[in-house]
Amino acid sequence: MTRLVILGSTGSIGTQSLDVAEKRGYTVTALAAHSNAQLMEEQIRHFHPTMAAMYDEAAARDLRDRVRDLNIPILSGMDGLCTLAELPDADIVLNSVVGMVGLLPTLHALRAGHDVALANKETLVAGGELVMRMAREHHARILPVDSEHSAIFQCLQGTAAGAWAPPASSAKLGISRVILTASGGPFFGKSAEDLRHVTVEDALRHPNWSMGQKITVDSATMMNKGLELIEAKWLFDMAPENIDIVVHRESIIHSLIEFTDYSVLAQLGVPDMRIPIQYALTWPLRGDPPVRRLDLAEIGKLTFYKPDHEAFPAIELCRTAIEKGGAYPAAVNAANEQANLLFREGKISFCAISELVAETLSRPLPAVSTVEDILAVDAECRRIIIDRG
Ligand code: NDP
Ligand code: MG
Repeated sequence: MTRLVILGSTGSIGTQSLDVAEKRGYTVTALAAHSNAQLMEEQIRHFHPTMAAMYDEAAARDLRDRVRDLNIPILSGMDGLCTLAELPDADIVLNSVVGMVGLLPTLHALRAGHDVALANKETLVAGGELVMRMAREHHARILPVDSEHSAIFQCLQGTAAGAWAPPASSAKLGISRVILTASGGPFFGKSAEDLRHVTVEDALRHPNWSMGQKITVDSATMMNKGLELIEAKWLFDMAPENIDIVVHRESIIHSLIEFTDYSVLAQLGVPDMRIPIQYALTWPLRGDPPVRRLDLAEIGKLTFYKPDHEAFPAIELCRTAIEKGGAYPAAVNAANEQANLLFREGKISFCAISELVAETLSRPLPAVSTVEDILAVDAECRRIIIDRG
């Protein structure tokens, strides 16, 4: 019987995770979110966790009031999230909060020896080295939920290493390249000039996936693929130059691995996050289908294109950040989170997101070795972007 803690349970990934958990009969031990107390109340009454947390203090008070008949502790703030992440009566912590705020809870879960099903990619972008080290030191696994990384993870089960999960050494896997697929987002085919005139509404209209607003805008700028490049570097210990990106409009092939003999394996499926979510929870086994069957004849054809780095500079900005290393990936992530928000608030243009990230990358940054160093770089980069907004 799997006992789950879900951080970010009210979001797109969180609600789909609860759907998977319910179908599989898992125990939901604890739930956390930011401020949606109404949905959290519904989730508590339905799933009966032993504890819950709201990051926002006022929302935590509201929730305590809503569920006062239930005698369930409601925690708050970052301490609340971290307490839930390290609860002893859990088997897997599924981290689906959005943004860098997921870093400390991930580290706490790993330190407690819990396997972490990780959707929260910002965690690995900003603190990849620390996160992988923590997992190694505490013999905990990181089970990828992001669909591309789940695809690679699934393909890797077919290698000589057998059932394999990060952070185990990937040296014996015999792969020479990882190929991440990208849908291209709502602005595929547009020129840099066309992108000067796009609106928030346009950016939030993703062709294939229904997701939270931050990642939907990241898909439109293609920053999402840049963040995923960094995520892949840490999860699979791949040099950035061996991670390629191909635009694949249909989002049916979720990513591929190339072996040293240039044989290539791909993972395919309908674009529905419940497949990667469920696989992270059932690995190394598979469960009943959470989605409809893939019908290739109905789809007809699969198309592939090179990314347009002139119109969408974000992928190359992330590649530069990971090559520079140190504080640069955390800085790029922070600048992007803040610029993405300013764009959604109507305060900056779509193209300004990548421009502000590029500016951040050209700044001298201090060396980072601890999580406090990373949090300080994150805060400083956000402050600079807020001033520009
Ligand atoms: P959503 O915006 O839909 O949901 C975000 C969730 O995080 C909500 O439950 C929200 O709570 C919670 N949250 C936000 N801030 C905090 C905080 N400070 N403390 C606690 N909880 C917080 O995002 P998605 O579900 O789309 O994405 C979640 C993560 O998964 C992101 O990192 C994204 O990149 C990644 N991902 C998402 C995919 C998708 O298909 N959606 C695919 C692959 C990766 P509240 O509702 O109260 O605000
Ligand atoms: Mg993805």
